[in-house]
Amino acid sequence: MATIGFIGLGNMGGPMAINLVKAGHSVKAFDLSAAAVANVVSEGGISAHSAKDAVTDADFVVSMLPAGKHVQSLFVSGDDPLLDHVRKDVLIIDSSTIDAATAQSVAMAAEARGISFIDAPVSGGVGGAKAGTLAFMAGGSAEQFAKAKPILDCMGKNIFHAGSHGAGQVAKACNNMLLAILMTGTSEALNMGVKNGLDPAVLSEIMKQSSGSNWALQVYNPFPGVMEGVPSSNDYQGGFQVDLMFKDLGLAMEMSQLSASPTPMGSQARALFNLHKVNGNGGLDFSSVIKLYQDQ
Ligand code: NAD
Repeated sequence: MATIGFIGLGNMGGPMAINLVKAGHSVKAFDLSAAAVANVVSEGGISAHSAKDAVTDADFVVSMLPAGKHVQSLFVSGDDPLLDHVRKDVLIIDSSTIDAATAQSVAMAAEARGISFIDAPVSGGVGGAKAGTLAFMAGGSAEQFAKAKPILDCMGKNIFHAGSHGAGQVAKACNNMLLAILMTGTSEALNMGVKNGLDPAVLSEIMKQSSGSNWALQVYNPFPGVMEGVPSSNDYQGGFQVDLMFKDLGLAMEMSQLSASPTPMGSQARALFNLHKVNGNGGLDFSSVIKLYQDQ
């Protein structure tokens, strides 16, 4: 069993770290929030008093941070960068959703010191993180992927090697752009049905069994009360914040611009999430975008 330094124990990182503990690994856990560390320690993790403390003797480091600037600063450009403190034979697995260019530049900075770093963003939400059924999309060499796989297997069910460094982030940007389009489209259809007299649960079931079926209808229904155990039935608390979805759509739009790929649906979804965010909903789960339709 390995010693794993885990940094970033929020909605996703917390349950992911706990699954590594449950698999028998020794997990040294650090987050800026003491409550987040305590949550992992209560399940058998070891409290680290700093990021440096978490990684110093680690065989693997896993990071699950909000955005590229946090990853860049933590490993490369901050006051006391972690690349100066990890062992040479460590494998760093960054599961945060960040831009591919930052993932590549951190991987190169690591490589220049003889250290392995891969991007391995995830899909599956907080439910998938808790259940250990996340999808991982990894970018790195075949050798690095093979080394990471047993660790990723403890936290996920479908583990993909997307390609070289940054490829995991490209796959993730494509997936989340599609998710945003599906969630806004599902919200639009549900709202129209309800405004025309349908029961949201009945309409959801009809569409789920018909050609409009998609992930939002299957496991993450945005209409309150239709599905138990999802953010829409808990005042849109927890889950995947509007702020983070807006960030991800920004990454997708940047990628579309750089590659001259047309993304009219993605930019429309980004405009809707932007409006929802400036209305003061940035901290709510992203399925709350249905309010944008209901409030009209
Ligand atoms: P979160 O805000 O709940 O957690 C982020 C954690 O990182 C926080 O606890 C914060 O205190 C900690 N943190 C920030 N900077 C730090 C630092 N320098 N050192 C230590 N800890 C630090 O976010 P989340 O929902 O867990 O998402 C994390 C990443 O996963 C994001 O990139 C997000 O886009 C991605 N993601 C989220 C979901 C989801 O459903 N929530 C799904 C897939 C991917």
